[in-house]
Amino acid sequence: MGKYDQYIGSFKCTTDDGLLGKPEAKELQHEPVGVEYSNVHRHEAVIVGAGLAGCYAALELRKKGFDVAVLTKVFPTRSHSTAAQGGIAAALGNLEEDHWEWHLFDTVKGSDYLADQDAAEMMVREAIPVLFEYEHMGVPFSRTPEGKIMQRYFGGHYSDFGRGPQILRACMAADRTGHALLHCLWEQCVKHEVRFYSEFLVLDIIIDENKCKGVVAWDLINGGIHVFHAKGVCFATGGYARLFNISTNSHANSADGLAIMMDNGIPIEDLEFVQFHPTGLAQKGFLITEGARGEGGYLINDKGERFMKKYAPDKMELAPRDVCSRAEWQEIVEGRGINGEEYVYIDLRHLGAEKIKERLPQIRELSMKFMGIDPIEEPVPIQPTAHYSMGGIPTDLSCRVLADGKEKWLVGLWAAGECACVSVHGANRLGTNSLLDASVHGRRAGKDMAAYLEVAQCWEPLPKDCAQKAIKEVEWILNNNGNERPGEIRRIMQEKMYRLCGVFRTEKELVQMYDILKDLQSRYKNIYIDDKGQKFNTDLQEAIELRHLLQTAEVIVASAINRTECRGAHWRLDHPGRDDENWLKHTLAYRTEEGVKFDYKPVVITRFVPEERKF
Ligand SMILES: Cc1cc2nc3c(=O)[nH]c(=O)nc-3n(C[C@H](O)[C@H](O)[C@H](O)COP(=O)(O)OP(=O)(O)OC[C@H]3O[C@@H](n4cnc5c(N)ncnc54)[C@H](O)[C@@H]3O)c2cc1C
Repeated sequence: MGKYDQYIGSFKCTTDDGLLGKPEAKELQHEPVGVEYSNVHRHEAVIVGAGLAGCYAALELRKKGFDVAVLTKVFPTRSHSTAAQGGIAAALGNLEEDHWEWHLFDTVKGSDYLADQDAAEMMVREAIPVLFEYEHMGVPFSRTPEGKIMQRYFGGHYSDFGRGPQILRACMAADRTGHALLHCLWEQCVKHEVRFYSEFLVLDIIIDENKCKGVVAWDLINGGIHVFHAKGVCFATGGYARLFNISTNSHANSADGLAIMMDNGIPIEDLEFVQFHPTGLAQKGFLITEGARGEGGYLINDKGERFMKKYAPDKMELAPRDVCSRAEWQEIVEGRGINGEEYVYIDLRHLGAEKIKERLPQIRELSMKFMGIDPIEEPVPIQPTAHYSMGGIPTDLSCRVLADGKEKWLVGLWAAGECACVSVHGANRLGTNSLLDASVHGRRAGKDMAAYLEVAQCWEPLPKDCAQKAIKEVEWILNNNGNERPGEIRRIMQEKMYRLCGVFRTEKELVQMYDILKDLQSRYKNIYIDDKGQKFNTDLQEAIELRHLLQTAEVIVASAINRTECRGAHWRLDHPGRDDENWLKHTLAYRTEEGVKFDYKPVVITRFVPEERKF
């Protein structure tokens, strides 16, 4: 019996094509935001997001012959995956001995033992076939002299279960790895006739009797609400680091996926764990890839010292990200930032012009364009920058979204990539494990959805009012005549989040941040936007995204207050040390009218018993 055979016979079929009523006419300052008949679409599978996770899922489904639509608010190849620089991890052993078991150990230790080890094992094992699949699709990887995929060093990846030196595990296409992967995957999707709806902003999911039946979206180009009726939906909406002012993330990373889940009563897992990358361009946040340290770059303080010798004497600059970011911030706090300012240096000069040009061309261009500094000649000013979301929408190993965060599948709904939490990264993600996560889980989600669609052969009716919530939100924003600017609320949130919910945290500052967010949320009720039109209304889009950011920030901060220990990226100065007795568990946070409510679930431990994490 197949996994989904139990569902045969449980479907309520319909021939009704889901015609929806228009909202009631009332006094509006804009054209009515109505759902027209032509705005109801049907696709067997709808994927939200066209980064690596979304495109991989779509490709798998198309290869099995299903009708797939991908909705994305930016053009597919502008998804944040394209910005990834350094590499994608797989124990290929192309240049030196490597084993997936070593990769697994590093991932689990890097996660500060919060990763679910069954999920992490599956990911590092599948890394190897996925890399070969990418190669066969035609990804232009950098090559070894024998023509194999080139691999470089990255922080946290070592040989022999962490006992040996660093290991060449990050597969790379110079420092444009994400660009190479995403373009190739997207081309494959186009070749296999995946239907892309670009510049559609998804606002809600349609849930009826614990079943997901589609999504509601706003057409950014022409305006108007669209309903997408589907048998299966997968969220692949990426991260949220735009809620910090110093961030590597693209503008589009605004937590929409997480907020939409929370709006629908689904808990979010481990949101307190935000990764700060140690090498963001000072004051700008743009990423200098960890590959720069992988190639041998030094971190230097105002005294010209390689300060990592105090914090990670063995692994130095190749210690994991949380360790390096804390070390930098400690140097800055103690006055050893360059000229006493909030930054230190990454020095690449000793690598020589040839290596920098060949291996790190993009980061050279970034530092020259945005700082006026050529890394061949001068050290580059850097500071920790918000980078990655370890937490997310709780899923099982098949990427199915869990309505209670534990075991109850919300039928017809999957999530993959950075927006999801399987959890493979626990409290801290290793560099290059995220492109891997997005690829492996996008592929898995696509395969699992295909297995479900084989069985789910008929269309079930849509609830009649399924677009009302989204329509109301858009109308409210267009009509609201307050005196608050969304841009100003966002600016305050971003600056304060970096200061008060950053690399080091204390209860006092977190509570202060929570109160600021409550205040900003009440100010949000009083917003106004100038543009009342529907076409390309970026004011409207930004206002919608701001609500998502504010609500997600609230859950991050509440979860950070709640977890009274130091683990991975979550560092509480007022609660030193990791507390396995009380906190070796995942947080499940529900956002409710009365505030954030918590539940927990145990960590899956299969091979490696938690031990102290030293480097
Ligand atoms: C600068 C930078 C460098 C990085 N370098 C590396 C690296 O070298 N190695 C590594 O492993 N990881 C790296 N990462 C992390 C990695 O790139 C991401 O975690 C990963 O690519 C996420 O892929 P994704 O498919 O989950 O999401 P994304 O690629 O972020 O795509 C999200 C998609 O969701 C869509 N979307 C979001 N909300 C909506 C909505 N409401 N409606 C419609 N569409 C929506 C967007 O349009 C987009 O298509 C880097 C990240 C950054 C920011």
